[in-house]
Amino acid sequence: MKIIVTGGAGFIGSAVVRHIIDSTNDSVLVLDKLTYAGNLNSLKQFENNERFTFVQADICDYTAIQNVFNNYQPDAVMHLAAESHVDRSIDGPSAFIETNIVGTYTLLEATRHFYQSLSNEKKALFRFHHISTDEVFGDLHGTDDFFTETTPYAPSSPYSASKAASDHLVRAWHRTYGLPTLVTNCSNNYGPFHFPEKLIPLMILNALEGKSLPVYGDGGQIRDWLYVDDHAAALYTVISKGKVGETYNIGGHNERKNIDVVKTICSLLEELVPNKPSKIQKYEDLITFVTDRPGHDVRYAIDASKIDKELGWKPKETFESGIKKTVIWYLENQDWWQQVKDGSYQGERLGVNLGV
Ligand code: NAD
Repeated sequence: MKIIVTGGAGFIGSAVVRHIIDSTNDSVLVLDKLTYAGNLNSLKQFENNERFTFVQADICDYTAIQNVFNNYQPDAVMHLAAESHVDRSIDGPSAFIETNIVGTYTLLEATRHFYQSLSNEKKALFRFHHISTDEVFGDLHGTDDFFTETTPYAPSSPYSASKAASDHLVRAWHRTYGLPTLVTNCSNNYGPFHFPEKLIPLMILNALEGKSLPVYGDGGQIRDWLYVDDHAAALYTVISKGKVGETYNIGGHNERKNIDVVKTICSLLEELVPNKPSKIQKYEDLITFVTDRPGHDVRYAIDASKIDKELGWKPKETFESGIKKTVIWYLENQDWWQQVKDGSYQGERLGVNLGV
C-alpha cells in the first residue's frame, strides 16, 4: 500500500510511520503543516528511506491536498493531523475548530474527489481512516462502566467537541457519499517522542530539572493509558483488516489516577537517576497540587473488546513496562527534548523530497 499519514510529524503519527516502515513493506507520505507539535527530528531516521516522503501542507488547503493525492496516488489515508492539547483548546479554541473540523472536512472532500476518479478495482481497496479520541464520549463517574463503540457522544472541552464534530463528518461522508471510512477512538497515549506539554513527559523533564510537578485538583482523575507503539500497531490492524464503515475503540486496559502516574514516574527516577538536583530529597517532594482545569473529565475507560474479538489486536505493554521504557527513552534521548525546549526543532528540515 501507499499510505498518506496526515500529522505524521506528531507524537502518534510518527509512531505510525515507524510501524509502517519497520514492520511492513508499505510506503508512507507524511502530510503535515508542522505546527509547534510537528517535529521532523522524530522522522529523521527515515530521511534516506525510499519508502518515505514528506510534504509540508495544511489540511485546510484543498489545492495542496489535491496535488498530493494526484501525484502520490495513495491506496489509503490515515488522518491524525489535529490540534490535540486540551489546555490550549481552552485558552484558544479557534485553531481547533479550523484544523479539526474545517481541516477534516477539506481533507474528506479532497479524498472523495480522488476516490471518485479511481477504477472500481482500486476503489474496492481504498480506505480513509480517521483517528480520534475517547474524549468525544465525555467522562465516566462510576468505576464499573466503560466507553463502547455505541456510547453517546458528550464532549466536554473545545478539543473533544471539535474531534466529535470531525468523527460525525467522517461517518456522514461514508453514509452519504460512500467513502470507505474507518474511525477509531483511543484512550490516552504515552511513550517516546511525546511533546513535553503533556502530563507524562512534562513530569519526567520537570523532575529531572528539580522543577515542581503540577497536578490538577487532587490528582484523582483516571485515564486509561496506552503505549503509543501499541496504538500504532492497532491502527495498522484496523486499516488493513477493519470493516468499512465501522468504528473501533482502542484502549490499554491500564486505568490509573493521574497522581499515581506521577508517583510511578518519581519512583522510576529514584531507581534510574539517584543523583537528583541538590535541593530535593525525593522526586515526590516536587509534586504540587494546582487549581483544576475547567470542565476536567473525571474518568475515561475504554472497552476494547470489539477490536480484540473482530481483528485480533491486544496491547502488548502493561503500564508498568511501558512507563519504564518511556522514562528510559527520555533519559537516553536528551538531544530530542532539548531541541524541543530551546525551540531549535522548528528549524529542522529533512533531506528528503519535499514534493512528490
Ligand atoms: P500531536 O499534537 O502530537 O500531532 C499533531 C500533528 O498534526 C503535528 O505534527 C502537527 O504539525 C500536525 N498538524 C496540526 N494541524 C495541522 C494542519 N492544519 N494540517 C496538517 N498538519 C497539521 O498529536 P498526537 O498526540 O500525535 O495525536 C494524533 C491524533 O490522535 C489526533 O487526531 C488526536 O486527536 C488523536 N488522539 C490522540 C491521543 C493522545 O493521547 N495523544 C489519544 C487519542 C486520539
